[in-house]
Amino acid sequence: MSTEMQVAGKRVLVVGLGKSGVASALFLKARGARVTVSDAKSEEQLRGEIPALLDKGIAVEAGGHGERTFRQQDFIVLSPGVPVDQPMIVQAKQLGIPVIGEVELASRFLKGNIVAITGSNGKTTTTSLAGDVIAAGSKAALVGGNIGTPAIELVPKSTEKGWVVLEVSSFQLETIETFHPRIAAVLNVTPDHLDRHHTFEAYWSAKKRVFENQTADDFAALNADDPECVRMAVDLKGKVLWFSRKDEVKTGSFVRANNIYYRDGGSEREIMPVADMQLKGSHNVENVLAAVCIGMAAGCTPEQIRSAVKLFKAVEHRLEYVATIGGVQYYNDSKATNVDATIKALESFPANIHIILGGKDKGSDYTVLKPLLRERVKRVYTIGAAAEKIESHISGATEVLRTGTLENAVRRATEMAKPGDIILLAPACASFDQFTGYEQRGRVFKELVAGLQVPVSR
Ligand code: ADP
Repeated sequence: MSTEMQVAGKRVLVVGLGKSGVASALFLKARGARVTVSDAKSEEQLRGEIPALLDKGIAVEAGGHGERTFRQQDFIVLSPGVPVDQPMIVQAKQLGIPVIGEVELASRFLKGNIVAITGSNGKTTTTSLAGDVIAAGSKAALVGGNIGTPAIELVPKSTEKGWVVLEVSSFQLETIETFHPRIAAVLNVTPDHLDRHHTFEAYWSAKKRVFENQTADDFAALNADDPECVRMAVDLKGKVLWFSRKDEVKTGSFVRANNIYYRDGGSEREIMPVADMQLKGSHNVENVLAAVCIGMAAGCTPEQIRSAVKLFKAVEHRLEYVATIGGVQYYNDSKATNVDATIKALESFPANIHIILGGKDKGSDYTVLKPLLRERVKRVYTIGAAAEKIESHISGATEVLRTGTLENAVRRATEMAKPGDIILLAPACASFDQFTGYEQRGRVFKELVAGLQVPVSR
């Protein structure tokens, strides 16, 4: 799409050695740049990454960022994990050194049409689904970004006629310049990551940036049921496609009498019955509606979209069904790392829920959980560092038991639950106090549940 950036001979600093940082460094080096990487982590902590970089002739600075390292560069590639307001970065910008993110870097080299999907929740689900929809439309579709493969690694496989479907986070959008998706979607905006963005408005503005380089030939898909998305539709240059579970929109996708439709001005097409979805919960209806807009904008037929949606199962750790033991159903929604995702998980089951809450707090307000806890939850089991804060916020809504660890929570919930009950891990918190990430937390949960299936002598 964009003109390819010249990097040969350029001095480039990659800050942050996560997956996308490592991929960017290797990419730039292979194209002849003089690459240095810098990470605050110690050499010891980076032992998995460093040898492969040194081997390729990339200079490594570990255990902190030297001031000089930041001064001598033609440009800097900042990892999404590193705050843009870090003093070293602010100083580099003041010196006129361009600071871009990996998604921006990738977009300067990617061929074909880009679909970018962002939002507080549902990105991964919608991105993988949109990838399947576009592939069902007989188009080459590469999927990556904030999920799975970093965007920069998709560059060699991308083709002029193909599609690249990217999940993009607010952190990645903070460091774009020319990133120009043909189709961009914002699924919803609810408070999240306020520890990094400081204010909701800053977070909202970062999300809106996904549209900033679009033109009249492009498409902007937005959730008509979310007021934060509605207020984003001001001064967008692309064609706005709305999706709604509640109202019949003029242009976009919606639900009427349990059927999904797509309408473009005068013409209306039936896509599929909601009942044909394997995904659970009304939030997933929203994700499907977004994927319908994306599929239609990409030129897929309703039949192609329907076939992809019908086959699509929950992505691991996203309201993933685990097992039924003694009549009790276990669900793993470890990816519910914020309050809104937990609300959606609770809304997916009418009653008799035992929910595990807690982990590392992200500055969230848990009081908003109270009505659903009162209405649907038999007992809350709190774990991790946020337990006390959560308990004080939800006090009086339902019974609460401090269990400390996930293992204890699963054990106690299993003891308490009756046939027909649901045991749900949807913790509303990050996991880093007790786990390496939500994936590990979800895997541990599934292992604990699997362990329950082995008969034990009591
Ligand atoms: P993301 O990539 O944005 O974190 P995921 O698809 O991984 O999104 O889902 C994250 C969490 O949010 C899961 O707990 C999932 O069940 C829940 N979720 C998925 N889609 C939505 C949605 N449209 N609105 C609210 N919550 C959602």
